[in-house]
Amino acid sequence: MEYANLAYVLAAVLFIVGLKRLSHPRTARNGNLIASVGMLIAIVATLVAYEALDYKLIAIGIIIGSIIGATFAIKVKMTGMPQMVAIFNGFGGGASALVAAAEFYANAAPKVAAGEHETFLLSTIALSVLVGTLTFTGSFIAFCKLQGIISGRPIVFPGQKLLNAVIALLLIGFAVGMVVVPVNMMWYFIGIAVFSALLGVTIVIPIGGADMPVVISLLNSYSGVAAAATGFVLLNNGLIISGALVGASGLILTNIMCKGMNRSLANVIFGAVGLEQQGATGAQKQMNIKSYSTEEAAMIFDAAEKIIIVPGYGLAVAQAQHAVRELADYLESKGKKVLYAIHPVAGRMPGHMNVLLAEANVPYEQLKDLDEINPEFEDCDIALVLGANDVVNPAARHDKSSPIYGMPILDVDKARTVIINKRTMNPGFAGIPNELFGYDNAIMVFGDAKQMLSDLLKNLKEL
Ligand code: NDP
Repeated sequence: MEYANLAYVLAAVLFIVGLKRLSHPRTARNGNLIASVGMLIAIVATLVAYEALDYKLIAIGIIIGSIIGATFAIKVKMTGMPQMVAIFNGFGGGASALVAAAEFYANAAPKVAAGEHETFLLSTIALSVLVGTLTFTGSFIAFCKLQGIISGRPIVFPGQKLLNAVIALLLIGFAVGMVVVPVNMMWYFIGIAVFSALLGVTIVIPIGGADMPVVISLLNSYSGVAAAATGFVLLNNGLIISGALVGASGLILTNIMCKGMNRSLANVIFGAVGLEQQGATGAQKQMNIKSYSTEEAAMIFDAAEKIIIVPGYGLAVAQAQHAVRELADYLESKGKKVLYAIHPVAGRMPGHMNVLLAEANVPYEQLKDLDEINPEFEDCDIALVLGANDVVNPAARHDKSSPIYGMPILDVDKARTVIINKRTMNPGFAGIPNELFGYDNAIMVFGDAKQMLSDLLKNLKEL
C-alpha cells in the first residue's frame, strides 16, 4: 500500500501540473495529456495495491467505458460539448454514489448489525450518496435542458424554495439518523438516495438555459466532492486527492464564469434568469435596421484600416473558423490590422472561441480578451460581429430590467462601423432583443457565417 500511496503522490503532482497547463490554450493539450498520465498511474497503482480484485470484470468495464468515451469524444460536435460535460459529470457523481452504496451493503451494514460503531464510515457514505446522487440527477436535467429535451426556460412554481429547503432539512435528518440510530439505518439510507435525487432535479429546473454552463461547472465541483467523500469511505488517498482537485477547480471555474457575467452564484441558482423574455423576436423585428449585401460590405472593408473580429456561438454553428482566418489573412495582406475580441462566455462553453480559432491556426497574439480589447474599439473602423449576440448587447450596460444587466460586454458599438452577421433577427441564448442592430453605425449582413465570409472574400478580391 505504501507504494500505492507514493504513486498517488506522483499522480497528484501530475494532476496539478496538468491543471496549471490547462489554463492557457497553447499548453492545454499537453496539460490534458500530463493529467491523463497521472490518472493512468493512479489506476495502475490501485489495481496492483488491491490484490483481491476481479480483473476480468475490471477489464470488461475498461473496454466498455473506453468505447463509450472515445465514441462521444470523436462524434460530439463542439457546440454539444457542454451537454457532454454535464452528462459525464453526472456519471461521475452516480459512480461515487454507487461505490458508497456498495460499501454500505457489503461492509457497513453487516458491521453495524454485529454491534460495531461505524460513525466515520456511515457519515462518509451518507455524504457520498447524497452529493453523488444529487450531482447525477442535477446533471441529467442540465443535459436535457441544453439538448432541448426539456425547455431551457426556468421552470418555477410557488413555494419552490421552501420545498428545496424542506428536502435539504429532511436529508440532513436522514443522514444524522443513519449515523446515530443504526436500527432504522436501511430506511434512512433509502431516504437519502431518494430525496437527494429529488433535490438534484428541483435545484436545477428553475435555472435558465443560459446559466447552465455555470451550473455544470458547479455540478462538476460537486462530483469532485462526491469522489473525495467516496475516497474517505474506501480510505483511498488517490481518490481523496483527485476528488478534492476536481471539487476545488470546479469551484474556481464557477467563480470565474459568474464574474464574466457579473452575477453572484446565488443569483444564478435562485434568480430564475431567462423567465420573462417571450416576444423578444417580435420586439427585434420592429427595429429599424440597415441590411447590406456582401458586395456593399466589401467596399467598407476595402476602405478600413483596423478591423476587430468578434466571434460568437453562430461562428461555431457555421464552422466558419477557417473562412474567417482566410478573410483575416487577405485583409492583413492588404496592410490592414486585424484583431479578435474574445468574450469569456461567448459560445457555449468556457474557452469555446479560443478552441475554435486555434483549430484554424489563428495566432494567439491576435486573440484579445475583454479588458484588453474594449479600449481598442474606439479607434477601430469595423467591428465584425460573427454570430455573436448576447455578448455585444448594450442593454447589459444600461437596462436594469434586462436579465443580462451588469454583464461585461464587448463595446462593439463604439467602433466606427459595426457589421453584424447572423441568419435572422432571432435572439441569442438569453432570448432577449438586441438594440445594437438598430444603432446608426450598425449594418446587418444576413446569412450563414461561412457562406457570408466566403462571399465577402470573393467580393473583396473582385474590387
Ligand atoms: P448568442 O447565443 O447570444 O447568439 C448567437 C447568434 O448566432 C444568434 O443570434 C444566431 O442568430 C447566430 N447564429 C446561429 N447560427 C448561425 C450561423 N450559422 N451563421 C451566422 N450566425 C448564426 O451567442 P454569444 O456567443 O453572443 O453569447 C453566448 C451566450 O451563450 C450567452 O448568453 C452566454 O451566457 C451563453 N452561454 C455561454 C456559455 C459559455 O460558457 N461560453 C455556455 C452556454 C451558454 P440567428 O439564429 O439569427 O442566425
